[in-house]
Amino acid sequence: MVALESAELFRNLRPDEVRALRQVALEREYAAGQEIFREGDRGDGVYVVKSGTVEISGLLNQTTRRNFSQIKPGGMFGEMAVIEHRPRSASATAISDTIVYFIPRGEMLHLIERSPGLALSLLQQISQRLRDFNQLFLSEVVQAERLAVIGRFARSIVHDLKNPLNIIGITAEVASMPNAPAEMRAQASSRIRKQVERINELVGEILLFTQGDQSTAVLVPVNFAEFITQVVEEMRHETELKSVKVELAAPPPAVKILLDPKRLRRVFFNLSHNATDAMPEGGKIILRFDADDAGVITEVEDTGSGIAPEILDRLFEAFATHGKSHGTGLGLSICKKIVEDHGGRIWARNEPGRGAVFAFVLPLAKPGKIS
Ligand code: ADP
Repeated sequence: MVALESAELFRNLRPDEVRALRQVALEREYAAGQEIFREGDRGDGVYVVKSGTVEISGLLNQTTRRNFSQIKPGGMFGEMAVIEHRPRSASATAISDTIVYFIPRGEMLHLIERSPGLALSLLQQISQRLRDFNQLFLSEVVQAERLAVIGRFARSIVHDLKNPLNIIGITAEVASMPNAPAEMRAQASSRIRKQVERINELVGEILLFTQGDQSTAVLVPVNFAEFITQVVEEMRHETELKSVKVELAAPPPAVKILLDPKRLRRVFFNLSHNATDAMPEGGKIILRFDADDAGVITEVEDTGSGIAPEILDRLFEAFATHGKSHGTGLGLSICKKIVEDHGGRIWARNEPGRGAVFAFVLPLAKPGKIS
């Protein structure tokens, strides 16, 4: 049981103010489960719990009610509608046998006008409530966003795994028919191998993506020119099957860079896969480099149709995909993570009249040039 003057709100009152408060405060009793006020009621006064517990709840929609908070002895409720002179926006219900002090609106406003201490306490309590509410709201938004991401992730994985699994299933069935000719079996075997590769690639991307913020890059000093020569050779193996040529605008700079070759190679392959996707009829990938004292900028340009404006500002976000039936939207977000794990930055632009350009900068390892 809390005496009126010991309630948080009235703690700073002078004795004469406490006397005035006592004269206007009314005691009201509510049985467990009884409603004190509900949405839409007049904001006719402020309540302070003397004993018992009051639950504040609000309607989320026409049928769903949500509990916001429980007010224990000494706590206040119902102040907002009084200050704003608007109808109640929430309901208050006694959840155990409860006694409250009720201070009618007119008297409460009168007291506030005369007592700066009371006005300050009221402000402090409202401010505290806003803070608590913000915290609750933020954690719920974060939780909802997390669930939405997991949902999108799961949908995207299921969608991407279903296709190759279906192809494997059908192909295996055809190949295992007793009268299947040897040629058909060979074709089936290569088709299945290709689909298994696709699944492997996808699983690899998911693993990379789920490694999250935990940086797994192992950086060693590497001659950038040698690294690029090797990567370009591997890229050409893949792209020539799709009538895409890989060209170097100029020889790569022979500078020393701290990098994780396996992971950085992934950036080149993801960019090259995307460029190839953007050039279904074939085309060119042009690699360009620009080195200064701070680092090396690598540009990967293609002769495709350019980046669609719909995706331009979400390009490096996970699951942002556009215009592809098999897109996971993970490729560029993985590139971004890898480049950032190398202390670099990645960006993209459309080159007017030409295709897309993806560029990233990597810092030089000291002391710089390899002689
Ligand atoms: P995904 O390729 O699985 O969709 P990414 O993150 O690799 O995911 O790419 C996101 C989107 O960016 C692609 O769906 C595509 O719309 C666009 N994009 C990426 N690279 C290029 C490119 N070289 N040319 C045109 N659009 C591109």
